[in-house]
Amino acid sequence: MTGGSRGIGAATARLAARRGYAVAITYRERADDAQRVVDDCRSQGVPAIALRGDVSVEADVLAVFDAVADRLGGLSALVNNAGIVAPQCRVADLDAARIERMLRVNVLGAFLCAREAVRRMSAGGRGGSIVNVSSRASVLGSPGEYVDYAASKAALDTLTVGLSRELAADGIRVNTVRPGLIRTDIHASGGRPDRVEQLSPTVPMGRGGEPDEVAAAILWLLSAEASYVTGTFLDVSGGR
Ligand code: NAP
Repeated sequence: MTGGSRGIGAATARLAARRGYAVAITYRERADDAQRVVDDCRSQGVPAIALRGDVSVEADVLAVFDAVADRLGGLSALVNNAGIVAPQCRVADLDAARIERMLRVNVLGAFLCAREAVRRMSAGGRGGSIVNVSSRASVLGSPGEYVDYAASKAALDTLTVGLSRELAADGIRVNTVRPGLIRTDIHASGGRPDRVEQLSPTVPMGRGGEPDEVAAAILWLLSAEASYVTGTFLDVSGGR
């Protein structure tokens, strides 16, 4: 689980532990939050570890995957969840450094983690399942908010299409969950902590979603119950 210290990643790690998975989470800087998630996972009786690493730095990704192999053994599942937004602005006001950072974390990071997972799941591994955490933004485009973010998630959607077909015969499934407005810290990092409440009237179900509701969709896609599901997109967005 990349980005497992908070939000959707933390909820998914906790649910995975309840379902019996040995869990490795990564985080970028919030070690205390990550440790709390690990403690909760361990209280379910499964091994759990937290590893610091920036997904946009290749050396960090390699070190994380090596540590998972050393400390937990074989890899059966990857949730490509770590992601960032940035303060809201129009495309006319974007600068190159910001766009590059967005793409490095949300796209390059996901590609590197998928590559490392696939190498381990196919070479002597027993196959596995990858879930990419995209966003409804990839379809909606996030005009006036962060089109760069939306475009990064569209790239992730295309990764799902291509990689799922590349691996379909190898026992590795690749799917995407596209959350809508979910109550996490990410909106504050985009400069609008109250974004979910403000936009709730635009959601057909009339409310924002909870991280646990996204976690349930991710765990289903990872599980054997989704054994004939690959290359698909599961929107968890209350109809938005
Ligand atoms: P969040 O609460 O801001 O948590 C982000 C997590 O990612 C944290 O664990 C953070 O670690 C980690 N992270 C950030 N940058 C990283 C990096 N460069 N390398 C490694 N880890 C990094 O976010 P969230 O709302 O749970 O979002 C999770 C995913 O869902 C993201 O991909 C996001 O785009 C997607 N999503 C969210 C929503 C929503 O409404 N919340 C909607 C659609 C899609 P630290 O704690 O150490 O900072």
